[in-house]
Amino acid sequence: MEMGKKVVILAYGCQMSERDAETLKEITRQVGYTSSEDLETADLVIVNTCCVRESAENKILGKIGELKKLKERKPKLKLAITGCMVQQPGALDRLQKRAPHVDIWAGTHNLHDFAALLQRVEQSGKVAEVCQEPNRAVESTPLAEKGKLHANVNIMYGCDNFCSYCIVPYVRGRERSRNPEEIIQEIEGLVASGCREITLLGQNVNSYGKEFSPSYDFADLLHSVDQIPLLLRIRYITSHPKDLSDKLIKTVANGEKLCEHFHFPLQSGSNFILQRMNRKYTREYYLSRVQKIRELLPQASLTTDLIVGFPGETEEDFEQTLSMLDLVHYSQAFTFMYSKRSGTPAAVMEDQIPLDVKKRRLQSLMRVQNQASLEWRQPMIGKVFEVLVEGPTKTNPERLAGRTRGNELVVFSGNQEIIGSLVEVRITEAGSWTLVGSIERS
Ligand code: SAH
Ligand code: SF4
Repeated sequence: MEMGKKVVILAYGCQMSERDAETLKEITRQVGYTSSEDLETADLVIVNTCCVRESAENKILGKIGELKKLKERKPKLKLAITGCMVQQPGALDRLQKRAPHVDIWAGTHNLHDFAALLQRVEQSGKVAEVCQEPNRAVESTPLAEKGKLHANVNIMYGCDNFCSYCIVPYVRGRERSRNPEEIIQEIEGLVASGCREITLLGQNVNSYGKEFSPSYDFADLLHSVDQIPLLLRIRYITSHPKDLSDKLIKTVANGEKLCEHFHFPLQSGSNFILQRMNRKYTREYYLSRVQKIRELLPQASLTTDLIVGFPGETEEDFEQTLSMLDLVHYSQAFTFMYSKRSGTPAAVMEDQIPLDVKKRRLQSLMRVQNQASLEWRQPMIGKVFEVLVEGPTKTNPERLAGRTRGNELVVFSGNQEIIGSLVEVRITEAGSWTLVGSIERS
């Protein structure tokens, strides 16, 4: 065991990637590393990567370049690059040539072996491992940091949907669901260590358990997790529109801790583009699902992901996406310019959209959504919401921040003792991003 060593973990990407970074933190802790944020005193720096869009990749490549200078000054420093970027088919060679100063390369399926890789690098210089097949045994017993108020819990891995723009199925492998008993056991362990809110993670949680016999689906899992004592809130991402069942909406409506928030990525409001994206639903089907949610859960908030500038997208297609913002009333939208990912079908489609057009569409989409977000939040003024108190705000330690069940961020004044509990907050101000309120009673 190496005592007193320090590791800095730089985490990029989605919640799943963040969850992987937590695994790396726990593995390195078990072999004697203390986690730190100070690069100057680090013995090991791990960059856990994302490759969903080119902008993320460029940012990460820039960071790896910067770390080269640090390593030149501190030759004993070990540098590891892990996760999605490394796992991309054919990427390792290219990355190794570009960054020969890196000591450890490990793909998404090799993270659990990180302690062994670290040991090997001490003995033999550089190591690179990119395994094509995931290890089911280690996936079912994940390592997590304990004692936090909120935790991410993987319920499934991989993705079988092959949306034509997306690299995820190539770096995360085929879809596989964890057993419900293992998931519940993990959550019970987290709750025992102080966790009160969990987010269940999957690329398409609505297809959870589709391989199980006898049948046990995502709604069944939510119902079981809802019974766990002391847990206060349950969230989940991502709900793929094609698989959102009435049973699931009803389960959320009847649940106690199941939050009334659906992250419900639309991607595009044009049927032509949706078909080219291989999303397997139409605009009309999507709207019918939204209607069902609103019918059973009038207070539910919806958030979404949108892509502009997908190959072949005309002004009319784009207008169709804009019109969906008026029809659905999202509380928030994550908006992206289409980014070419090599190896995906969309990368070789004709009619790629020029960057200036993509930028213009992104700008107008963001403008319309900012206004829509404000309109969604303004009627909340004067009303009282249940808020789980997360802690002091980043900018002002005197103020506390928390979230409503609909996942709206609320800032208010209060005693630090209420951190981790549910309070009632009356909303006094609303912006596009946050709400301001005052505690009604704790
Ligand atoms: N499984 C989730 C999405 C995971 S990726 C789902 O199906 O909704 C997160 C988001 O990144 C996607 O929803 C999409 O909006 C965006 N994205 C993925 N690939 C992209 C690409 N090549 N270019 C631009 N945005 C992309
Ligand atoms: Fe990518 Fe589509 Fe799978 Fe989401 S569902 S991860 S967008 S392929």
